[in-house]
Amino acid sequence: MSTPLDTPGTPVPGAQSAAPAAVEVHGVHKWYGAHHVLDGIDLTIRPGEVTVILGPSGSGKSTLLRVINHLEKPEAGHVSVGGEPIGVRRHGKGLKELSERAILAQRSRIGFVFQNFNLFPHLTALDNVAAAPVATGRLSRGAARELARELLDRVGLGDRAGAYPRQLSGGQQQRVAIARALALRPGVILFDEPTSALDPELVGEVLSVIKDLAAGGTTLVIVTHEIGFAREVADRIVFLDGGRVVEQGPPAQVLDNPSHPRTRDFLSKVL
Ligand code: ADP
Ligand code: MG
Repeated sequence: MSTPLDTPGTPVPGAQSAAPAAVEVHGVHKWYGAHHVLDGIDLTIRPGEVTVILGPSGSGKSTLLRVINHLEKPEAGHVSVGGEPIGVRRHGKGLKELSERAILAQRSRIGFVFQNFNLFPHLTALDNVAAAPVATGRLSRGAARELARELLDRVGLGDRAGAYPRQLSGGQQQRVAIARALALRPGVILFDEPTSALDPELVGEVLSVIKDLAAGGTTLVIVTHEIGFAREVADRIVFLDGGRVVEQGPPAQVLDNPSHPRTRDFLSKVL
């Protein structure tokens, strides 16, 4: 498609009409003071789709992820995840804000992997992964620890379950953070520059875990500057600039044949 934005209400090609979009962002605006950081974002992410968000520093990539997760509240527009509106519920003809508790429950169904891992320093790798399913009452402590072992195995860290974050490399810490995100069986996982805090030799191990998730059909939204990785893993690339979706499409289109001068300019700097 060459249209720069998904038009609301237009069926997405290839979408299963019965299944709700994994993520639907509609008409989202976000200001910080006078700074218009998200300027009318429309985006539909289908279940199982891997979306990579590219864009220059300050273009609003992190803010967009934070709005999807309701860590930031947009001043206009709305977001749904798995068909469920985020942060609000229907109330008569209008919408009413959800309680903080209900928002936390929603957030627990959306995985978030941060640039700086954000592990609990006083918990082992195993307990970092097991903590949330216990805290949210989804699993008993024993079942959560069993799941955590499986997930640590899956990210190649079965032998480091007892290690504390400070005893792990950055790449290992980020893999624990990915296992932790998986522990809540989220409908979608958001990654905000998951490898940009890593030494170059540790980037590959983290990207390889993300590639496995992509191949396994998990819905992923990834902000990254790793263009080679984006090309390999993405079903769709969304290029953001000045808080707008300037261009989107399959990697071959956006990376090799970008239609917008801003995309070309950005790629000429990072490639
Ligand atoms: P990106 O992730 O693409 O680099 P961000 O979403 O972090 O961009 O930020 C977009 C713009 O919003 C930047 O100019 C940034 O300085 C500003 N910004 C981000 N967070 C805040 C905040 N909490 N308060 C004020 N300005 C912010
Ligand atoms: Mg950012």
